[in-house]
Amino acid sequence: MTQVLAIGTFNDTEAAALTEAFGCRVLAEVDGLGGLDQAVRDAVTAVAFKGHQGFGAAEMAQLPGLKLLANYGVGYDSIDVAAASAQGITVTNTPDVLNDDVADLAIALWLMQGREMQQAADWVRSGNWAGEGAFGLSRKLSGSKVGVVGLGRIGREIAERLAAFKCEVHYHSRSQKQTPGWAYHADPVALASAVDFLFIALVGGPETEGYVSKEVISALGPRGVIVNISRGSTVDETAMLDALEAGELAGAALDVFVNEPQIDPRFLALPNVVIQPHQGSATHDTRAAMARLQRDNIAAHLAGAALLTPVN
Ligand code: NAP
Repeated sequence: MTQVLAIGTFNDTEAAALTEAFGCRVLAEVDGLGGLDQAVRDAVTAVAFKGHQGFGAAEMAQLPGLKLLANYGVGYDSIDVAAASAQGITVTNTPDVLNDDVADLAIALWLMQGREMQQAADWVRSGNWAGEGAFGLSRKLSGSKVGVVGLGRIGREIAERLAAFKCEVHYHSRSQKQTPGWAYHADPVALASAVDFLFIALVGGPETEGYVSKEVISALGPRGVIVNISRGSTVDETAMLDALEAGELAGAALDVFVNEPQIDPRFLALPNVVIQPHQGSATHDTRAAMARLQRDNIAAHLAGAALLTPVN
């Protein structure tokens, strides 16, 4: 009986690769676990997991022999890692292979919001350019004051791209990092006060919930723009919406939201907000690399070798 079970929103290519490599079954949802025979569940030592449905102690308890929970994605906030550790289960993720794509999207969102590219494209498509004339002026971005909250793998890639745009780079992390002269702020409010554009690259999960608080948003001020590619939970979304509607924040450029994909409809009415449907790592190349790294972790587990990217 197969030791590997795949659970989640795998596309056909990913599911076929998992089946070919491990002869595993693919369940679309975590809820499907209860429908498996006890003997099938007992045989499982590794799960390939993809998606944002929660995988907690209750799900782990249904797989008594589970030793590896291999997540597709660098963010593993949908997995209860403490519960996994308590049950002797190692969690792996897929770091680094997606850094470039996520950082690229952050920069694209920044440019799209600041240069009003969506509105300008609409101006052309609607016939206004030919009918009414030029679109109007937007905001210069190169050389501006920018801040990154969370100078981890992706945050650093964003900061390096912003430096190439001749920006004055500031950042906040829990500890100061080795950087090429970027300004460190121990406090996120101090960071927000010093910049006009705030890029969020924190991990998600309960520890960083609302980290970009009402106070941080207020310190960013009416010329400020939030660019978030991390998780919706890292920003106090209600405070951000209130500030955007009141003109106390100039704009937002967002790939991630609380309660995705049923996002707060208040976002849709705001002309100063640009949005993407959680596309950070969504290129063919990067998704293939993420799927490969997930499979490589499972193969290492089955071979009794060291896991490539454990998180606990
Ligand atoms: P990373 O290298 O682990 O960096 C995460 C950052 O979060 C670090 O700067 C770290 O701060 C900070 N952090 C962690 N725990 C914290 C806490 N309790 N309080 C305050 N700060 C904390 O992760 P990464 O690879 O850059 O990925 C970052 C996140 O991006 C992922 O977790 C995921 O949620 C998100 N992501 C989104 C997409 C997308 O499609 N939009 C794609 C991939 C990833 P220190 O520097 O102080 O350690």
